Amino acid sequence: MKPLSLYIHVPFCRSKCAYCDFASFPGREGEWGQYFEALWGEMEGWKDGLSGCEIATVFFGGGTPTLVDAGYIEQTLARARRIWPFAPNAEITLEGNPGTLTLKKLAAYRRAGVNRLSMGAQSFDDGLLKSLGRIHTAAQIGEAVRMARDAGFSNINLDLMYALPGQTMAQWRDALEAALALGVPHVSAYSLIVEEGTPMAARVASGEAVVPDDDAVNAQQQLALNLLGEAGLARYEISNYARPGFESRHNLVYWNRGDYLGLGCAAHSLVDGVRFSNPATLEDYLSGTRRLDAQRLTAADAMEETLMLSTRTTRGLDMAAWAAAFGTPFERGREAALCRLEQGGFIAISDGFLRLTPRGMQVQDAVVLELMEADE
Ligand code: SF4
Repeated sequence: MKPLSLYIHVPFCRSKCAYCDFASFPGREGEWGQYFEALWGEMEGWKDGLSGCEIATVFFGGGTPTLVDAGYIEQTLARARRIWPFAPNAEITLEGNPGTLTLKKLAAYRRAGVNRLSMGAQSFDDGLLKSLGRIHTAAQIGEAVRMARDAGFSNINLDLMYALPGQTMAQWRDALEAALALGVPHVSAYSLIVEEGTPMAARVASGEAVVPDDDAVNAQQQLALNLLGEAGLARYEISNYARPGFESRHNLVYWNRGDYLGLGCAAHSLVDGVRFSNPATLEDYLSGTRRLDAQRLTAADAMEETLMLSTRTTRGLDMAAWAAAFGTPFERGREAALCRLEQGGFIAISDGFLRLTPRGMQVQDAVVLELMEADE
Protein backbone atom coordinates (compact mmCIF):
# COMPACT_ATOMS: atom_id res chain seq x y z
CA MET A 1 0.00 0.00 0.00
CA LYS A 2 1.13 3.54 -0.69
CA PRO A 3 2.07 5.52 2.42
CA LEU A 4 0.09 8.73 2.88
CA SER A 5 0.38 11.40 5.55
CA LEU A 6 -2.51 13.54 6.71
CA TYR A 7 -2.24 17.14 7.85
CA ILE A 8 -5.36 18.44 9.58
CA HIS A 9 -5.63 22.16 10.19
CA VAL A 10 -7.54 23.44 13.22
CA PRO A 11 -7.72 27.21 12.66
CA PHE A 12 -8.95 28.32 16.10
CA CYS A 13 -7.05 30.13 18.84
CA ARG A 14 -8.05 31.82 22.07
CA SER A 15 -6.30 35.04 21.01
CA LYS A 16 -3.81 36.09 18.36
CA CYS A 17 -0.08 36.11 19.20
CA ALA A 18 1.82 39.27 18.24
CA TYR A 19 4.02 37.56 15.64
CA CYS A 20 1.48 35.17 14.12
CA ASP A 21 0.43 35.17 10.47
CA PHE A 22 -0.91 31.62 10.40
CA ALA A 23 -4.50 30.91 9.43
CA SER A 24 -5.82 31.07 12.99
CA PHE A 25 -8.92 32.86 14.18
CA PRO A 26 -9.82 33.81 17.74
CA GLY A 27 -13.40 34.21 18.92
CA ARG A 28 -14.99 31.73 16.48
CA GLU A 29 -16.13 29.11 19.02
CA GLY A 30 -19.60 29.09 17.47
CA GLU A 31 -18.18 27.73 14.20
CA TRP A 32 -16.21 24.76 15.52
CA GLY A 33 -18.98 22.27 14.77
CA GLN A 34 -19.62 23.60 11.27
CA TYR A 35 -15.89 23.59 10.54
CA PHE A 36 -15.35 19.96 11.52
CA GLU A 37 -18.43 18.88 9.57
CA ALA A 38 -16.89 20.56 6.50
CA LEU A 39 -13.51 18.98 7.19
CA TRP A 40 -15.03 15.50 7.58
CA GLY A 41 -16.89 16.05 4.32
CA GLU A 42 -13.64 17.01 2.60
CA MET A 43 -11.94 13.89 3.98
CA GLU A 44 -14.82 11.67 2.81
CA GLY A 45 -14.44 13.17 -0.67
CA TRP A 46 -10.97 11.62 -0.98
CA LYS A 47 -12.19 8.09 -0.25
CA ASP A 48 -12.15 6.87 -3.85
CA GLY A 49 -9.30 9.02 -5.19
CA LEU A 50 -6.92 7.87 -2.48
CA SER A 51 -7.98 4.28 -1.94
CA GLY A 52 -4.98 1.96 -1.78
CA CYS A 53 -3.18 4.25 0.65
CA GLU A 54 -2.12 3.50 4.18
CA ILE A 55 -1.80 6.28 6.73
CA ALA A 56 1.79 6.58 7.92
CA THR A 57 1.49 9.81 9.93
CA VAL A 58 -1.18 12.28 11.00
CA PHE A 59 -0.48 15.82 12.21
CA PHE A 60 -3.10 18.09 13.77
CA GLY A 61 -1.71 21.62 13.41
CA GLY A 62 -3.08 25.07 13.75
CA GLY A 63 -4.21 27.23 15.18
CA THR A 64 -4.55 25.49 18.50
CA PRO A 65 -5.90 21.93 18.09
CA THR A 66 -6.00 21.55 21.89
CA LEU A 67 -8.45 24.46 22.18
CA VAL A 68 -11.41 22.66 20.61
CA ASP A 69 -13.30 19.89 22.42
CA ALA A 70 -11.32 16.63 22.40
CA GLY A 71 -14.34 14.95 20.79
CA TYR A 72 -13.55 16.70 17.47
CA ILE A 73 -10.07 15.17 17.44
CA GLU A 74 -11.42 11.73 18.40
CA GLN A 75 -14.09 11.86 15.69
CA THR A 76 -11.65 13.05 13.03
CA LEU A 77 -9.36 10.08 13.72
CA ALA A 78 -12.25 7.62 13.92
CA ARG A 79 -13.57 8.84 10.54
CA ALA A 80 -10.10 8.70 8.97
CA ARG A 81 -9.75 5.09 10.18
CA ARG A 82 -13.01 4.20 8.46
CA ILE A 83 -11.61 5.52 5.15
CA TRP A 84 -7.99 4.30 5.27
CA PRO A 85 -6.06 1.60 7.11
CA PHE A 86 -3.47 3.05 9.48
CA ALA A 87 0.06 1.62 9.65
CA PRO A 88 0.45 -0.26 12.97
CA ASN A 89 3.11 2.23 14.10
CA ALA A 90 1.45 5.34 12.62
CA GLU A 91 2.74 8.55 14.22
CA ILE A 92 -0.18 10.75 15.29
CA THR A 93 0.83 14.22 16.46
CA LEU A 94 -1.28 16.91 18.05
CA GLU A 95 -0.06 20.48 18.38
CA GLY A 96 -1.03 22.07 21.65
CA ASN A 97 -0.84 25.20 23.70
CA PRO A 98 0.10 24.70 27.37
CA GLY A 99 -2.61 27.19 28.33
CA THR A 100 -5.37 24.95 26.98
CA LEU A 101 -4.44 21.49 28.29
CA THR A 102 -6.12 19.47 31.02
CA LEU A 103 -5.44 15.92 32.16
CA LYS A 104 -8.93 14.96 30.99
CA LYS A 105 -8.28 16.26 27.46
CA LEU A 106 -4.86 14.62 27.31
CA ALA A 107 -6.30 11.26 28.38
CA ALA A 108 -8.97 11.57 25.66
CA TYR A 109 -6.28 12.24 23.00
CA ARG A 110 -4.37 9.14 24.12
CA ARG A 111 -7.54 7.03 23.94
CA ALA A 112 -8.12 8.34 20.42
CA GLY A 113 -4.64 7.13 19.37
CA VAL A 114 -2.64 10.36 19.52
CA ASN A 115 0.91 9.30 20.41
CA ARG A 116 2.95 12.50 19.99
CA LEU A 117 2.41 15.95 21.48
CA SER A 118 4.02 19.08 20.08
CA MET A 119 3.70 22.02 22.45
CA GLY A 120 4.23 25.68 21.67
CA ALA A 121 6.33 26.74 24.67
CA GLN A 122 8.29 29.50 22.85
CA SER A 123 10.01 30.86 26.00
CA PHE A 124 10.36 30.21 29.72
CA ASP A 125 10.46 33.91 30.55
CA ASP A 126 7.06 35.30 31.59
CA GLY A 127 7.96 38.80 30.34
CA LEU A 128 8.87 37.52 26.88
CA LEU A 129 5.78 35.28 26.79
CA LYS A 130 3.62 38.29 27.56
CA SER A 131 5.27 40.46 24.90
CA LEU A 132 4.67 37.67 22.36
CA GLY A 133 0.99 37.58 23.31
CA ARG A 134 1.14 33.97 24.49
CA ILE A 135 -1.77 32.88 26.70
CA HIS A 136 0.32 30.77 29.09
CA THR A 137 3.06 31.24 31.68
CA ALA A 138 6.38 29.44 31.99
CA ALA A 139 5.03 27.45 34.96
CA GLN A 140 2.15 26.17 32.82
CA ILE A 141 4.59 24.66 30.31
CA GLY A 142 6.14 22.45 33.00
CA GLU A 143 2.69 21.58 34.32
CA ALA A 144 1.51 20.63 30.80
CA VAL A 145 4.51 18.35 30.23
CA ARG A 146 3.93 16.62 33.58
CA MET A 147 0.22 16.14 32.83
CA ALA A 148 1.07 14.78 29.37
CA ARG A 149 3.37 12.20 30.97
CA ASP A 150 0.65 11.27 33.48
CA ALA A 151 -1.71 10.74 30.57
CA GLY A 152 0.80 8.36 28.95
CA PHE A 153 2.69 10.56 26.47
CA SER A 154 6.44 10.01 26.17
CA ASN A 155 6.97 11.47 22.69
CA ILE A 156 6.79 15.21 23.42
CA ASN A 157 8.18 18.20 21.52
CA LEU A 158 8.59 21.72 22.79
CA ASP A 159 8.79 24.63 20.32
CA LEU A 160 11.15 27.41 21.43
CA MET A 161 11.82 30.77 19.78
CA TYR A 162 14.99 32.83 19.55
CA ALA A 163 15.89 36.10 17.77
CA LEU A 164 13.17 37.76 19.86
CA PRO A 165 13.29 41.53 20.48
CA GLY A 166 14.87 42.15 23.87
CA GLN A 167 15.77 38.48 24.41
CA THR A 168 19.14 38.11 26.12
CA MET A 169 21.51 35.22 25.64
CA ALA A 170 20.87 34.29 29.30
CA GLN A 171 17.10 34.10 28.64
CA TRP A 172 17.70 31.88 25.61
CA ARG A 173 20.01 29.63 27.62
CA ASP A 174 17.35 29.43 30.36
CA ALA A 175 14.72 28.37 27.82
CA LEU A 176 16.91 25.60 26.42
CA GLU A 177 17.92 24.40 29.88
CA ALA A 178 14.33 24.47 31.13
CA ALA A 179 13.22 22.34 28.16
CA LEU A 180 16.04 19.89 28.83
CA ALA A 181 15.24 19.77 32.54
CA LEU A 182 11.74 18.64 31.61
CA GLY A 183 13.34 15.70 29.78
CA VAL A 184 11.49 16.08 26.49
CA PRO A 185 13.01 14.03 23.65
CA HIS A 186 12.43 16.65 20.90
CA VAL A 187 12.94 20.41 20.67
CA SER A 188 12.16 22.69 17.73
CA ALA A 189 14.20 25.89 18.01
CA TYR A 190 12.84 28.53 15.64
CA SER A 191 14.12 31.97 14.83
CA LEU A 192 11.39 34.65 14.97
CA ILE A 193 10.37 35.81 11.49
CA VAL A 194 8.78 39.25 11.58
CA GLU A 195 5.80 38.80 9.28
CA GLU A 196 4.27 41.75 7.49
CA GLY A 197 0.94 42.93 8.88
CA THR A 198 1.45 41.54 12.38
CA PRO A 199 1.54 43.66 15.57
CA MET A 200 5.18 42.58 15.92
CA ALA A 201 6.02 44.08 12.50
CA ALA A 202 4.37 47.36 13.56
CA ARG A 203 6.43 47.40 16.78
CA VAL A 204 9.64 46.78 14.85
CA ALA A 205 8.76 49.47 12.27
CA SER A 206 8.07 52.03 15.01
CA GLY A 207 11.31 51.21 16.84
CA GLU A 208 9.43 49.97 19.91
CA ALA A 209 10.92 46.52 19.33
CA VAL A 210 14.44 45.87 18.04
CA VAL A 211 15.33 42.52 16.52
CA PRO A 212 18.85 41.20 17.18
CA ASP A 213 21.48 41.41 14.42
CA ASP A 214 22.73 38.40 12.41
CA ASP A 215 25.73 37.78 14.68
CA ALA A 216 23.51 37.61 17.76
CA VAL A 217 21.04 35.32 15.99
CA ASN A 218 23.82 33.01 14.80
CA ALA A 219 25.21 32.87 18.34
CA GLN A 220 21.76 31.88 19.65
CA GLN A 221 21.48 29.16 17.01
CA GLN A 222 24.92 27.89 17.91
CA LEU A 223 24.01 27.77 21.62
CA ALA A 224 20.96 25.62 20.79
CA LEU A 225 23.14 23.29 18.73
CA ASN A 226 25.69 22.97 21.55
CA LEU A 227 23.36 22.64 24.55
CA LEU A 228 20.83 20.32 22.92
CA GLY A 229 23.60 18.25 21.30
CA GLU A 230 25.43 17.81 24.64
CA ALA A 231 22.16 16.59 26.17
CA GLY A 232 21.76 13.93 23.45
CA LEU A 233 19.27 15.76 21.22
CA ALA A 234 21.00 15.69 17.83
CA ARG A 235 20.14 18.21 15.17
CA TYR A 236 18.45 16.45 12.25
CA GLU A 237 17.03 19.53 10.50
CA ILE A 238 17.92 23.22 10.61
CA SER A 239 15.47 23.92 13.47
CA ASN A 240 14.85 20.44 14.89
CA TYR A 241 16.67 18.35 17.49
CA ALA A 242 15.78 14.90 18.83
CA ARG A 243 16.95 11.92 20.79
CA PRO A 244 17.52 8.94 18.44
CA GLY A 245 14.17 7.55 17.33
CA PHE A 246 12.16 10.67 18.27
CA GLU A 247 12.59 12.60 14.99
CA SER A 248 9.24 13.87 13.68
CA ARG A 249 8.32 11.33 11.03
CA HIS A 250 5.56 13.59 9.74
CA ASN A 251 7.88 16.52 9.12
CA LEU A 252 10.41 14.19 7.50
CA VAL A 253 7.71 13.37 4.94
CA TYR A 254 7.68 17.09 3.95
CA TRP A 255 11.46 17.29 3.69
CA ASN A 256 11.65 14.01 1.75
CA ARG A 257 8.81 15.10 -0.56
CA GLY A 258 6.56 12.18 0.35
CA ASP A 259 2.80 12.30 -0.33
CA TYR A 260 0.66 14.22 2.15
CA LEU A 261 -2.94 15.33 2.07
CA GLY A 262 -3.82 18.57 3.86
CA LEU A 263 -7.41 18.85 5.11
CA GLY A 264 -9.07 22.03 6.33
CA CYS A 265 -8.66 25.73 5.87
CA ALA A 266 -5.25 26.83 4.49
CA ALA A 267 -3.94 23.25 4.34
CA HIS A 268 -1.40 22.38 1.63
CA SER A 269 -1.01 19.03 -0.13
CA LEU A 270 1.40 17.13 -2.34
CA VAL A 271 -0.26 14.08 -3.87
CA ASP A 272 1.13 12.13 -6.84
CA GLY A 273 3.35 15.03 -7.95
CA VAL A 274 0.59 17.68 -7.72
CA ARG A 275 0.68 20.52 -5.22
CA PHE A 276 -2.53 22.28 -4.18
CA SER A 277 -3.95 24.14 -1.23
CA ASN A 278 -7.22 25.11 0.43
CA PRO A 279 -8.36 28.73 0.90
CA ALA A 280 -6.82 30.60 3.82
CA THR A 281 -10.01 32.18 5.16
CA LEU A 282 -12.62 30.39 7.19
CA GLU A 283 -15.40 31.95 5.10
CA ASP A 284 -14.04 30.60 1.80
CA TYR A 285 -13.37 27.19 3.30
CA LEU A 286 -16.85 26.95 4.82
CA SER A 287 -18.41 28.01 1.51
CA GLY A 288 -16.89 24.88 -0.04
CA THR A 289 -13.90 26.24 -1.99
CA ARG A 290 -11.18 23.55 -2.27
CA ARG A 291 -8.02 22.61 -4.17
CA LEU A 292 -6.72 26.01 -5.25
CA ASP A 293 -3.63 26.53 -7.41
CA ALA A 294 -3.28 22.86 -8.35
CA GLN A 295 0.05 22.51 -10.09
CA ARG A 296 1.66 19.39 -11.53
CA LEU A 297 5.34 19.70 -10.76
CA THR A 298 7.78 19.67 -13.65
CA ALA A 299 11.18 17.96 -13.40
CA ALA A 300 12.73 21.40 -12.82
CA ASP A 301 10.29 22.07 -9.94
CA ALA A 302 11.04 18.69 -8.42
CA MET A 303 14.80 19.33 -8.67
CA GLU A 304 14.48 22.72 -6.99
CA GLU A 305 12.31 21.32 -4.20
CA THR A 306 14.62 18.35 -3.66
CA LEU A 307 17.62 20.64 -3.32
CA MET A 308 15.80 23.12 -1.08
CA LEU A 309 14.21 20.55 1.25
CA SER A 310 16.91 17.87 1.51
CA THR A 311 19.61 20.40 2.42
CA ARG A 312 17.53 21.42 5.45
CA THR A 313 18.23 17.99 6.92
CA THR A 314 21.51 16.67 8.31
CA ARG A 315 21.00 13.55 6.18
CA GLY A 316 21.50 15.85 3.22
CA LEU A 317 21.01 15.40 -0.50
CA ASP A 318 21.42 11.85 -1.76
CA MET A 319 23.41 12.33 -4.96
CA ALA A 320 22.83 8.79 -6.29
CA ALA A 321 19.06 9.18 -5.76
CA TRP A 322 19.24 12.52 -7.61
CA ALA A 323 20.99 10.93 -10.60
CA ALA A 324 18.46 8.08 -10.66
CA ALA A 325 15.45 10.42 -10.41
CA PHE A 326 16.57 13.12 -12.84
CA GLY A 327 18.91 11.24 -15.18
CA THR A 328 21.84 13.59 -14.62
CA PRO A 329 24.60 13.71 -12.02
CA PHE A 330 24.04 16.44 -9.43
CA GLU A 331 27.61 17.71 -9.89
CA ARG A 332 27.23 18.35 -13.63
CA GLY A 333 27.47 22.10 -14.31
CA ARG A 334 27.93 22.77 -10.58
CA GLU A 335 31.59 21.84 -10.22
CA ALA A 336 32.82 25.40 -9.58
CA ALA A 337 30.01 26.29 -7.15
CA LEU A 338 30.51 23.06 -5.20
CA CYS A 339 34.23 23.77 -4.94
CA ARG A 340 33.62 27.35 -3.76
CA LEU A 341 31.04 26.31 -1.17
CA GLU A 342 33.17 23.44 0.09
CA GLN A 343 36.25 25.65 0.44
CA GLY A 344 34.16 28.28 2.21
CA GLY A 345 33.06 25.71 4.81
CA PHE A 346 29.37 25.84 3.82
CA ILE A 347 28.97 22.29 2.52
CA ALA A 348 30.63 18.90 2.91
CA ILE A 349 30.35 15.98 0.49
CA SER A 350 30.92 12.45 1.73
CA ASP A 351 29.47 8.95 1.19
CA GLY A 352 27.50 10.22 -1.81
CA PHE A 353 25.63 12.86 0.22
CA LEU A 354 25.87 16.63 0.06
CA ARG A 355 25.32 18.15 3.49
CA LEU A 356 25.30 21.69 4.76
CA THR A 357 27.71 22.38 7.61
CA PRO A 358 26.36 24.29 10.65
CA ARG A 359 27.77 27.41 8.99
CA GLY A 360 25.99 26.55 5.73
CA MET A 361 22.72 26.01 7.61
CA GLN A 362 22.87 29.58 8.90
CA VAL A 363 22.64 30.77 5.27
CA GLN A 364 20.79 27.85 3.70
CA ASP A 365 18.79 30.04 1.28
CA ALA A 366 21.95 31.58 -0.17
CA VAL A 367 23.68 28.19 -0.51
CA VAL A 368 20.67 26.71 -2.30
CA LEU A 369 20.44 29.72 -4.60
CA GLU A 370 24.10 29.43 -5.54
CA LEU A 371 23.66 25.73 -6.33
CA MET A 372 20.52 26.40 -8.37
CA GLU A 373 22.00 29.25 -10.37
CA ALA A 374 25.17 27.27 -11.04
CA ASP A 375 23.11 24.85 -13.12
CA GLU A 376 21.46 27.50 -15.31
S1 SF4 B 1 -1.21 30.01 19.29
FE1 SF4 B 1 -0.04 29.65 17.41
S2 SF4 B 1 -1.54 29.78 15.75
FE2 SF4 B 1 -2.51 30.66 17.58
S3 SF4 B 1 -2.16 32.84 17.38
FE3 SF4 B 1 -0.47 32.01 18.63
S4 SF4 B 1 1.16 31.50 17.14
FE4 SF4 B 1 -0.74 31.81 15.99
